[in-house]
Amino acid sequence: MLLGAGACATAHAQDTGAAPTNLAADSASVGALAAPPAPPPRDLLAEARDGFTPENRAYQGIRVWLRLVGPVYGVLVSLLLLFTGLSARFRDIAHAMGSRGYVRVLVYFTLYSVAVALFTLPLAWYEEFALEHQFGLSNQTLADWAFDSIKGITFSVVVMGVVPLLWLAWRVIERRPRSWWLWLSLGTLPIAVAATLLQPLVFDPLFNRFTPLQDAALRQQILDLGARAGIPGRDVYEVDMSTKTNKVNAYVNGFGASQRIVLWDTTLERLQRDEILFVMGHEMGHYVLRHIWTGLLWVTVGAFAVFGLSAWIAHLVLARFGAQWGVQGVGDLAALPLLVAALTVVGFAGQPVSNAVSRQMEHESDVYALELTRDNDAGARAFLQLAQNNRSDPAPAPWVRVLFYTHPPLAERIAFALEYRPWDEGRPNQLYRARVEPTLTR
Ligand SMILES: [Zn+2]
Repeated sequence: MLLGAGACATAHAQDTGAAPTNLAADSASVGALAAPPAPPPRDLLAEARDGFTPENRAYQGIRVWLRLVGPVYGVLVSLLLLFTGLSARFRDIAHAMGSRGYVRVLVYFTLYSVAVALFTLPLAWYEEFALEHQFGLSNQTLADWAFDSIKGITFSVVVMGVVPLLWLAWRVIERRPRSWWLWLSLGTLPIAVAATLLQPLVFDPLFNRFTPLQDAALRQQILDLGARAGIPGRDVYEVDMSTKTNKVNAYVNGFGASQRIVLWDTTLERLQRDEILFVMGHEMGHYVLRHIWTGLLWVTVGAFAVFGLSAWIAHLVLARFGAQWGVQGVGDLAALPLLVAALTVVGFAGQPVSNAVSRQMEHESDVYALELTRDNDAGARAFLQLAQNNRSDPAPAPWVRVLFYTHPPLAERIAFALEYRPWDEGRPNQLYRARVEPTLTR
């Protein structure tokens, strides 16, 4: 649900007469002679295109390469753990720790997590720290980055241990060696709901400070906008992302009572007021259109495909290499790297589908924001800000868009923001309904 993970840019637009409401008000006053000449209209698409400098192109080129290399490297690490017998060793150590399945799973998973973290450390360091510093996008110190990484790994081990998810999954695999993937798929929805519910309450605060939006005037404007969208406005937070990054963004996450709209403080610093309000309109679109629900539904549907295909691959590969690796079957703890590798491959292959679903929802939120605010110019400028601050590619190659873009590229979004005006053509709104009953009652 991030607003601007992708990039954007191109094409013109302001030709229809930018900032119409302000200009209309000015021209109504008579002092036309004394008025300074109006600045020429901006060509926001051209600005986006021209703003994608060779430096930004280099940055995005490396990021695309990393998104290809990351999964391949992950699979190679899994194969390394299997072919060297390390995974079987971890299993033996875990078994030596006791006869209780729960303890064995926790010990194995801890050893596995530490090993994977060590092997993937260089790539993670480059992608999350070095690259971002190289292009002036990060403010984080190396110590802070390392601390965040350790917190993340510890959190996953603790969660898997305290909520014995992995143990439960392993029991299912062990007892249902044929149909385990069906059961795990069925278990995905409640886990995804719980994770979505708890993320803003438990996980996010580990890494950042969240406070209710401080700016009282902006807060009131957002409340007013939210009232028009039928949303209680008290759930708007700002987060101190400026301690880590120079990028800008906003998002909706959480579920039910934990659902909230979060603005990065960098967004508050860099965007103009009307641009921020448009961004809020986009996030309110996710809220009102229940995109979190839709996302969860797709996760559940996708789980059957991903687990089913991964199980098929894992069984095939184990039949060929299981003995060589010292792995007895999918119910053997030592098979975990194989399952992870299979999930990685199938997940990567499924990205075009999940990204298409995500891009559709993002587009719907853009439509919603335009219908709610009717501020086409602010919308287009907000997208331009995303492109420029985040060094995004406004118009990526088609294959990059299909494989990696969860949002429409920013040139598409700018062009759409500039042209979409059904209210001028006497057509009804597609998504925004004025004075609807609040969709969230609290
Ligand atoms: Zn969005």
